[in-house]
Amino acid sequence: AKQLADYIWFNGKIIPWKEATVHVMTHAIHYGSSVFEGVRAYNTPDQGTCVFRLQEHTRRLFDSAKIYRMNIPYTMDELNQALIDTIVKNDLKSAYIRPIAFFGDIGMGIKVPLDAEAEVSIAAFEWGAYLGEEALKNGVNAGISSWNRLAANTIPTGAKAGGNYLSSQLISMEARRHGYGEGIALDTNGFISEGAGENIFVIRDGVISTTPKTAAILPGITRDTVMTLAKELGYEIREENIPREAMYLADEIFMCGTAAEVTPVNSVDGITVGKGGRGPITEEIQNMFFGLFNGKTEDKWNWLTPVYK
Ligand code: PMP
Repeated sequence: AKQLADYIWFNGKIIPWKEATVHVMTHAIHYGSSVFEGVRAYNTPDQGTCVFRLQEHTRRLFDSAKIYRMNIPYTMDELNQALIDTIVKNDLKSAYIRPIAFFGDIGMGIKVPLDAEAEVSIAAFEWGAYLGEEALKNGVNAGISSWNRLAANTIPTGAKAGGNYLSSQLISMEARRHGYGEGIALDTNGFISEGAGENIFVIRDGVISTTPKTAAILPGITRDTVMTLAKELGYEIREENIPREAMYLADEIFMCGTAAEVTPVNSVDGITVGKGGRGPITEEIQNMFFGLFNGKTEDKWNWLTPVYK
């Protein structure tokens, strides 16, 4: 893979990026048997580089592993420390961090030994705005995908597993083929679920709605952050089923995720959302969100873990 940083943490050791390789017979390559996280660290004015919501990300990694009965041979504390060590070793000020646990050399076939242990690696590198700086300001043009998100009780969307991203890949590639910046999928009941890699918020008449955890979504950590910040700003947040047409009639829509941060949606299926561009409530929430990292929003929730100290 293209070299994005100098070092990677791999099965307990920090090694040069180029040496962090696996064999082509790795189980996860054949069967998608991996669980992973996407985490960001920001360079804050008061505390320097801080990992955002480290505990919650590590907990979700272990939750995803538990669903698949995957043994991670480290504790949560050990992986938290390893993640911090990886940022330090690469001398990064801000970073996107990718911990992954996967089945490696456990033999072919899907009869996974019940005591199989996962291999674990953590990469950290610089990564800008996922949907682009321009999208953060002016919004992304989104399209509803012809692909539905995974149905309940098929592949669990609540786990952040490698295999789930075949669905995201179909949604994202179709959207870009049709000239959109991002795709949004409906669930198998026809309600909005999520973007290829983002949760969705829809605003009308000052009320903010987001899809409930029953609508085939990954319950995002940014989603939780946004809900907390919006409540703090005094907004009512509803977790409810959102029909497709609600997107066409919204005053504002935004997407959020660790990679995408808080990105406004400018149009859906070519229909302009509200007045187009970034709406006022979206901007307020965006400012409060980025304020956590530029010192303008007080971190009342202890979401920031300093790296260098
Ligand atoms: N949904 C999907 C499918 C995702 O891949 C992501 C990104 N991890 C999200 C939602 C947002 O989750 P988070 O805010 O925890 O990054």
